Amino acid sequence: MSQLIDGKKIAAQIKDEVKCDVEKLRGQGIRICLAVIQVGKDPASTVYVRNKKRACEYVGIESLSYELDETVAEEELLALIEELNRNSKVTGILVQLPLPGHIDEKKVIRTISPDKDVDGFHPESTGKLCIGEKGLLPCTPAGIIELLKRSGIQVGGKECVVVGRSNIVGKPAALLLLRENATVTVAHSRTKDLKEITRRADILVAAVGKPLFITADYVKEGAVVIDVGIHRDEENHLCGDVDFENVKGKTSAITPVPGGVGPMTIAMLMRNCVAASQK
Ligand code: NAP
Repeated sequence: MSQLIDGKKIAAQIKDEVKCDVEKLRGQGIRICLAVIQVGKDPASTVYVRNKKRACEYVGIESLSYELDETVAEEELLALIEELNRNSKVTGILVQLPLPGHIDEKKVIRTISPDKDVDGFHPESTGKLCIGEKGLLPCTPAGIIELLKRSGIQVGGKECVVVGRSNIVGKPAALLLLRENATVTVAHSRTKDLKEITRRADILVAAVGKPLFITADYVKEGAVVIDVGIHRDEENHLCGDVDFENVKGKTSAITPVPGGVGPMTIAMLMRNCVAASQK
C-alpha cells in the first residue's frame, strides 16, 4: 500500500520546533523580525502573505507589513528594500512574487541583502547552494527534502527525476537532491521521451505547473512521487501536477495536493527566519 506523505503534519512539527528555537533566542536577547512586502492586491498573493504572517504569529516572530500600490515605481520599491536592509531590527525580508510587469523581479531579488534573504532566491544564496556551502535555502525545495527525510525515505543513491527547471523550484530541488547523493535528471519542456525518463525515477518530483500532467504511465511501479504543483480544477478544487487518484496505486509513497508540499513552504520559511537572525 502506498504511504501518504503528510505535509500538514510534518509542517506542524517543524513550526513547533521553530517556536521553541524562537523562544530560546528571545531568552538570549535575540528578536526575529520579518518584513513582508506585497505589491498590488492579487488575491492569491494576499492569501499567501496572510498565511505567512499567521505562521510568524504562531512561532513568535514579529512581522512588519508593507502594502504597496500596484503602480508603485520600481525605484520606490528598491529604496524600501534598501532601508529595510539597513534596519538592524529587521532580520528577514520577503517580497511576495509575482510582481507587476513594470518591475524587474531579478533586480528586486538582488537588492535584498543576502543575509536577510529568507526566500533563498538571491544569487549569493543560489551560488552557495550550487557549491555546497551553508546558506539560506529556497523554501519549497528545502521542504521537499525535509518531507522525504521525515517520511523515512532514503535519497542517497536513488535515481531522481525532477520535471521542471525553474529557478525557484526545479533547479534548486535538483541541486538539493544531488547534495543528498541522489543521481539526478532534470527534465523540461524540450526534453524528448519524457515518459521514458520519468519511468526510471525511484523518486519523481513534479514541478511542471500543469494540472494532472503526470499520469500513471509516467511513473515506475513502487516510485516515490512528490507533487509540487498547485492548481484549481473546473470545480474550484485544489489539484497538483500529478493525477493523484490514478497514480497513487503505483507508488510506494506520494504527496497529496493539498496537504503535501504546500504547507512545507511556509514551515521552511519560518526556519529560514531563525537562520537569518543568526547571521
Ligand atoms: P514554472 O516556472 O512555470 O516552471 C515550469 C517548468 O516545467 C519549466 O521548467 C518548464 O520547462 C517545465 N515544463 C512545462 N511544460 C512541460 C512539459 N510539457 N514537459 C516537461 N516539462 C515541462 O513553474 P514553477 O514556479 O517551477 O512551479 C511549478 C508548479 O509548482 C506550479 O504549479 C506552481 O504553482 C507550484 N508551486 C508550488 C509551491 C508550493 O509551495 N507548493 C511553490 C512554488 C510553486 P521550460 O523551462 O522548458 O519552460
